Amino acid sequence: DPIIRIENICKTYPGGVQAVNNVSLNVNRGEFFALLGPSGCGKTTLLRMMAGFEIPTSGTLLIDGQNMADVQPNKRPVNMVFQSYAVFPHMSVAQNVGYGLKIEGRPKKEIAERVQEALDLVKLGHLGGRMPDELSGGQRQRVALARALIKRPSVLLLDEPLSALDAKLREAMQIELVRLQKTVGITFVIVTHDQDEALSMANRIAVMEQGVVKQIAGPAELYESPNCRFVADFIGKINLFDGQAKANGNGKTLVETPVLGKVEFGGDANGPVSLGVRPEKVRVSREKPSGNLLAAQGPVTDIAYYGGYSKVFVDIGAKEPVLADITNAERSMGPGFENGEKLWVSWRAEDT
Ligand code: ADP
Ligand code: MG
Repeated sequence: DPIIRIENICKTYPGGVQAVNNVSLNVNRGEFFALLGPSGCGKTTLLRMMAGFEIPTSGTLLIDGQNMADVQPNKRPVNMVFQSYAVFPHMSVAQNVGYGLKIEGRPKKEIAERVQEALDLVKLGHLGGRMPDELSGGQRQRVALARALIKRPSVLLLDEPLSALDAKLREAMQIELVRLQKTVGITFVIVTHDQDEALSMANRIAVMEQGVVKQIAGPAELYESPNCRFVADFIGKINLFDGQAKANGNGKTLVETPVLGKVEFGGDANGPVSLGVRPEKVRVSREKPSGNLLAAQGPVTDIAYYGGYSKVFVDIGAKEPVLADITNAERSMGPGFENGEKLWVSWRAEDT
């Protein structure tokens, strides 16, 4: 059975903002689960309802099989790490981490042992005596983590825990959080607006838009089989082409778009559709590509160099230029492409 079961949860704030609109989802025991979506879509509200800091307007929330309707935050088997990982400035790292246990009246010896264990987990084992103002941002984040973990919750709720860190540290902490979650074996639910963060860390991801969950799936499935335009566009970059679909009744569908002409696909769809292709599936060439490919030609509008790869934008007359990610190995074969130069873009129909 899932550790968290959410059924038809709604939250309307006083004043009338409907922050969460009829969300149902399960979080499995021991998984790393992410709530992903743009700012304001209701992620924090949903997480705070799990923690008990917000009361749902309607719907049911069960944690570990128990209905949470009348359970106070401090009685729930969860702990939360806040976006602004505030620590008590006048207490040492060890005192900060042990504070919750001290309040509970635990014996000194037990507190000391568990503080050390929690600090070791977040690789601060040697810094228990430091004061918070002697720590870097990343270290303060670890203190907040240790403070949440020391209570041994069944579920750790993390609200944008890495958003205050610079890009390099954030990437390192992503890997470390995944390792930490595996080590302690408890369920993590993380809120993030950063799709790369969610894709790289989570076992499963719920993508939200305006209070609604659009899709729940593993990273690869979300990326390769998004169930709607919003998810396709939000998870990574995608080139989209509007068209009209017409099913032929034999399990095939003909899609006609202004720039790509008619393309046949499996399935039965009718009416307006969008064809999507990921930038890394798009090839660029000076010669017209041969073989069974979707192809179109146009001038290069922009080229951006990123070290390992380049982004090439080609205007083939669609709403926006087509984006192709090409490796720099590919790019270095022959003279480089230039702005304004006419190039072919192409990809396999099955990559659409
Ligand atoms: P996210 O975490 O995805 O950015 P939030 O859950 O914080 O989104 O907010 C969802 C919506 O609810 C937003 O429109 C926000 O302005 C609104 N909201 C959040 N907290 C409150 C509150 N305490 N009172 C009124 N509206 C709120
Ligand atoms: Mg938020």
